[in-house]
Amino acid sequence: MRKTFIAGNWKMNLTKQQATELGASIADAVSQTNDIDIAICPSFGYLDSVGTALGESTVKLGAQTLNANDAGAFTGEISGPMLCDLGCSVVILGHSERRELFAETDQLVNEKVKAALTHGLHVILCVGETLEQRESGQTNDIVGGQLVGSLANITTQQMASITIAYEPIWAIGTGKVATPQQAEQIHAHIRGLLVNHFGDSVAQATRIQYGGSVKPDNAQELLAQPNIDGALVGGASLDCESFMQIIRHG
Ligand code: PEP
Repeated sequence: MRKTFIAGNWKMNLTKQQATELGASIADAVSQTNDIDIAICPSFGYLDSVGTALGESTVKLGAQTLNANDAGAFTGEISGPMLCDLGCSVVILGHSERRELFAETDQLVNEKVKAALTHGLHVILCVGETLEQRESGQTNDIVGGQLVGSLANITTQQMASITIAYEPIWAIGTGKVATPQQAEQIHAHIRGLLVNHFGDSVAQATRIQYGGSVKPDNAQELLAQPNIDGALVGGASLDCESFMQIIRHG
């Protein structure tokens, strides 16, 4: 039985005060919930203060990317050891905005995945197709290529520290959500690829989140699908009540 995992990706949003208050409100609201894994991923600058606001809460602190190097001349970047130092236990890697806007290739994502695992961070690995790719029937191939490329040389043991997030790019921040059937179909395909590469027990244990305009009013049906094990939530995670409503559907 896979434990539902819901993560909030705050992207480059909020002020320090808003981020800290939101973190404190979420920690407060989930204090009695232990049956779902929850993470929030603020921007780098607020990790420290949001981590402090989370206190002893079970809500995990996550980052939105990292540099694969441990330290050195990489202006503007942040490393795995730095994220750990700031209290992070989770990192989102391969988000489509990183792939598209910052030219992250599967090879680079793979290096980041390995670096994150070396430092004991749990990885949320994002994959997903564009609308054009979907309409030309390439979804399975694109998602499969990203998955296999980003997980090159990852061991079956390491897979215990990886969650996959299927995020169709055409559904991110657009209000266009994949239907539960569309999402379930790709999730099942991803699980099949995991069986091929890592064997059945790893594939059955690996959580696959759906991401792309998840809101309180569509979360229940999405999360009810057999191969949807959680959600990666952007816009709706910026409001405590809407994030909590999604969590309650988990
Ligand atoms: C995301 O960026 O990971 C995301 C899913 O965003 P939204 O929920 O706003 O579509």
